Amino acid sequence: MIYDLIIIGGGQSALACSYFLRRTSINYVVLDAELTCGGAWLHAWDSLTLFSPAEHSSLPGWPMPKSNEEFPSREEVITYLCNYEERYKLPIKRPVEVGNVTKSDGVFIVNTSEGTYHSKAVISATGTWKKPAIPYIEGRENFQGVQIHSSLYKSPDPFTGQKVLIVGEGNSGTQILAEVSKVAHTTWATRKEPEFLPDDVDGRVLFNVASAKYYAQQKGETFDASKYNLGNIVMVPSVKDARKRDVLHAVRSFKKMDGHGVIWPNGDYEIFNSIIWCTGFNYATDHLKELVQIDEQGKIETYGTRSVDVPGLWAVGYGGWTGFASATLIGVGRSAKETILEVSEYLNDQK
Ligand code: FAD
Repeated sequence: MIYDLIIIGGGQSALACSYFLRRTSINYVVLDAELTCGGAWLHAWDSLTLFSPAEHSSLPGWPMPKSNEEFPSREEVITYLCNYEERYKLPIKRPVEVGNVTKSDGVFIVNTSEGTYHSKAVISATGTWKKPAIPYIEGRENFQGVQIHSSLYKSPDPFTGQKVLIVGEGNSGTQILAEVSKVAHTTWATRKEPEFLPDDVDGRVLFNVASAKYYAQQKGETFDASKYNLGNIVMVPSVKDARKRDVLHAVRSFKKMDGHGVIWPNGDYEIFNSIIWCTGFNYATDHLKELVQIDEQGKIETYGTRSVDVPGLWAVGYGGWTGFASATLIGVGRSAKETILEVSEYLNDQK
């Protein structure tokens, strides 16, 4: 059987695409590597919350229910995603891991852990969680303590009583610092001074900035980012609490490591038991390697979400590269809608 469309990945981006597919006659299936619904949220740390209230964190069509707290918890997000799938009866197969995709005679061949699928079009919506990024630091391989990336961090408990180095100036680094500092002696190393958003703004402002940039570019106008330079770290309750405890102090990052610690830029040496790398992600696009050129971060060349090089291939939900704010629940709807319009046109042209 040849599907019209296969969506690879079953997180929030795939769900948003599926919502718009309901209004079409496109015959499609979603292949997701997870055992259950929730995408990357299944793997996030226990205390992670959204950084916007529920009413600003909805996928298209069906609002996220109000949370008991200001910001919905990870569990609430997973429940919302699972209920969304159920509500719209989305055709998702799990667990199906896509190993690679090729194309022959106009048909995509999608090789998976559960056999081979075929389709006329493919949307890759595999996110970033499976591709943690850690910068190259001389001597890192010799460190004998515990090193984990934030993608594997679950809770502060294993670090109790330790000397812990937390690396990275984003929201992950700040939130993990906030809770590990309650049970361990922490040091926070960042490439530049962390930029905290004012207390009275949250993730919505990041979305608004992304939207302003998007609309300026659509109109061919120059985007003046300086007007919006408010910072990027959202002052969620745990981070506000860390500020009260006076732990939000960062030092500049180190260039060398050895078996037990790091060498700071001024030459001082410091021993640590554990290091938590909150240094971001690349794009989980290895499955496209045989189909299209991928850069070192995992990007393919796109016009919007459409592959420049491979007709019938789209990439959705990877953040700025595939549509502003498209890595967020509220932002992915816009690029999903545009993508499904393009997919429909493409499939019509194939008839
Ligand atoms: P994912 O959720 O990663 O889903 C991709 C799916 O594809 C997964 O189920 C994965 O198993 C599957 N997959 C991957 N490779 C394959 C393959 N080869 N074959 C089959 N399946 C595959 N977003 C917000 O909207 N609001 C927030 O407040 C927010 N806070 C965040 C805080 C932190 C610290 C982080 C790290 C992220 C936050 N995000 C937030 C972003 C959000 O978690 C991700 O951007 C989002 O999960 C991306 O959705 P996605 O569907 O594109 O990818």
